Amino acid sequence: MRLIMLGAPGAGKGTQAAKLAVAYNIPHISTGDIFRANIKGGTELGKKAKGYMDAGQLVPDELVCDLVADRIAQEDCTEGFILDGFPRTIPQAEALDAALEKMGLKMDAAVNVDVPDENIIERMGGRRACLKCGATYHMVYAKPQTEGICDKCGSELVLREDDKPETVKTRLGVYHEQTQPLIDYYEKAGILKTVDGTQSLEAVFEGIKAMLG
Ligand code: ADP
Ligand code: ADP
Ligand code: ZN
Repeated sequence: MRLIMLGAPGAGKGTQAAKLAVAYNIPHISTGDIFRANIKGGTELGKKAKGYMDAGQLVPDELVCDLVADRIAQEDCTEGFILDGFPRTIPQAEALDAALEKMGLKMDAAVNVDVPDENIIERMGGRRACLKCGATYHMVYAKPQTEGICDKCGSELVLREDDKPETVKTRLGVYHEQTQPLIDYYEKAGILKTVDGTQSLEAVFEGIKAMLG
C-alpha cells in the first residue's frame, strides 16, 4: 500500500500516518521529521531548511524532492510506504510521479484529512512533539502517560517553535496557496479519498481504513 496523507498543518496527518504504518506494517515517512532530525544533527540540509521552517514557509522543492525519491527507493519501502507532509506543491507531486514511474510504480491513494481552519489553531496550540522520535501528543486529546514526557522514548515534549499562533496563521496561508491544489491533482488522478478529520482520532482512523478497503 502506497499512501499520501494530505491536509492542512495540524489536521492529523502525522497521527493517522503513525497508526496506519503499524496497521499495514509499512514505513511512515514524514518530511517534517526528516528536516527536524537534520536541524538537530546540525547537517547542511538542516541549516538550509531551518530558516524556512521557523518562518512557516515551505523549504524549496529542490531540497525535498530528491530526498524523498531516495527514501522510497530503499529496501523497507518495497511493500509500500506512507508519505506524510510530502508532496506539498504541484512540482513536488510531479517529481514524485516521475520517480515512481522510473520504478514502475504508482501511488494507491491520497488521503485528505479534512479539517476547517477554525479547528486548526486549537489543535496546534495543544500539540506537543517529541523531537527525538517524532511522536506527537495533544494536551487534551492525546495526552502522554506522564505529562511532558514521550511515551515511546522518554524524551521531553516541546511546543514546536512553528506551532505558535502567528506562525500557524502563516502556515495555513501557505497551505491554501501551495498545497490545497493537490486535492484537485489527486482527484483528477482518481486516487483521492477524503475523511472528516474533525472526528475523534479513532473515528478518523476507522474511516480511513474503511475507505482503503
Ligand atoms: P505539519 O505536520 O504541522 O504539517 P510538518 O512537520 O509536516 O508540519 O512540516 C514542518 C515544516 O517543514 C513545514 O512548515 C515546512 O517548512 C517544512 N516541510 C516539511 N515537508 C515539506 C515539503 N514537502 N516541502 C517543503 N517544506 C516542507
Ligand atoms: P499534522 O501531522 O497534520 O500536522 P498531527 O497529527 O500532528 O497533525 O495533529 C495535530 C495535533 O492535533 C496533535 O496535537 C494531535 O495529537 C492532535 N490531533 C490529531 N488528530 C486529532 C483528532 N482527530 N482529534 C483531536 N486531536 C487530534
Ligand atoms: Zn519520543
